[in-house]
Amino acid sequence: MIKRLFIKTYGCQMNVYDSARIAELLAPLGYAETGQAEGADLVLLNTCHIREKAAEKIYSELGALRRLKAAREHRGDRMLIAVAGCVAQAEGEEILARAPFVDLVFGPQTYHRLPDMLARAATRPVLDVEFPAAAKFDHLPARRSAARATAFLTVQEGCDKFCTFCVVPYTRGAEYSRPAAAIIAEARRLAEEGAREITLLGQNVNAYHGTAPLNGADDGDEWRLGDLIRALAKIPDLHRLRYTTSHPRDVDETLVAAHRDVPQLMPFLHLPVQSGSDRILAAMNRRHTAAHYRATVARLRNARPDIALSSDFIVGYPGESDDDFNATLDLVRDVGFAQAFSFKYSPRPGTPAATAPEQVPEPVKAERLARLQELLRAQQRAFNAASVGRVLPVLFDKPGRHRGQIVGRSPYLQSVHAAAEAARIGDIVPVMITAAEPNSLAGAIVARDRAA
Ligand code: SF4
Repeated sequence: MIKRLFIKTYGCQMNVYDSARIAELLAPLGYAETGQAEGADLVLLNTCHIREKAAEKIYSELGALRRLKAAREHRGDRMLIAVAGCVAQAEGEEILARAPFVDLVFGPQTYHRLPDMLARAATRPVLDVEFPAAAKFDHLPARRSAARATAFLTVQEGCDKFCTFCVVPYTRGAEYSRPAAAIIAEARRLAEEGAREITLLGQNVNAYHGTAPLNGADDGDEWRLGDLIRALAKIPDLHRLRYTTSHPRDVDETLVAAHRDVPQLMPFLHLPVQSGSDRILAAMNRRHTAAHYRATVARLRNARPDIALSSDFIVGYPGESDDDFNATLDLVRDVGFAQAFSFKYSPRPGTPAATAPEQVPEPVKAERLARLQELLRAQQRAFNAASVGRVLPVLFDKPGRHRGQIVGRSPYLQSVHAAAEAARIGDIVPVMITAAEPNSLAGAIVARDRAA
């Protein structure tokens, strides 16, 4: 009998990847994904702990699910509720205390034990929030569904950096790198299933240090991310590689050389800096300076002159002065970003910065964020405008909003839409960029023989 599974995923690409693996894990147990909680036999919330009030949002969501569950049980039927991901990891016991109608609570490192947890949940609520990252990947079924021309592949988990504003080391655990042989095998299967672009995922992906494959057997040598990228680039039909999220301190020579030598590695890098002030970077425990960040960007641009950069910024970190903020604006002007994400500092329970003195008043944070975003938007507009009149290779991976329109990504991760039949989805096609819109480009497909 088919059982209906509804998964709601919050947060980062790693949660998206985990939700896809959870669905694959439950398929042999008869679970098939459905698009809504109503009527589902198992509702699973895969949560994120990054944003403010993340946990409170989950409790209000659970309130609605409680009513659905009660209605099903009133009809003599059963609906299981599961909470997974980083809120489950951080607040597992509290979730079961505040929401005793929840059947399963488990962290990002234990979902490979779901079949057993489901069996145990038949008689009592289950809580499983251990940190055995390594075990998870060894027990997941071989991945089969590429489903789209682009795919995500987790290569590293956890983080040892302990930035003072971040919960990830507490919710995802210590850094763990998957053996290269397992990653290459998974990527090969994805390419055979139709993936033409793979994004390698990790909370600190460029801290990757996995065991090297040799004649198919790991011999204990260690590979860095640059080595892994070179090996993945040899997989037939895998035309594009990307990776996210990186730390400036882990941009080593193997990675810079990969950007120089590996054409499949796309010239776009998300490299969070958070602040341009050395005083604030030190307070954040980022353990690098603004000068180090500028020098790292210069090494990357020297290796791949057309590389485009994206970054993350936090304004209003405790103690941030006007001078500190101006240092951030100076760094943004000096580097120039094609895209960026910027946030007001918000205290995360359990992180050192949450109890730091000199919390910045909300109006000051708001004013600084507005000025920073104005500068970042101007840079993104200028970057997109400079693409007009160029022919860019675009990997189309989904239908557009309008009939006869398809959407894809340029090498610089710009969203590009063009008029074409859906049959072109999955192809990398030369596109003449005709217009730049705030967050995307418009273009016309160019016959290959006319492409530059
Ligand atoms: S490096 Fe990233 S994931 Fe790790 S603690 Fe810092 S912000 Fe969080």
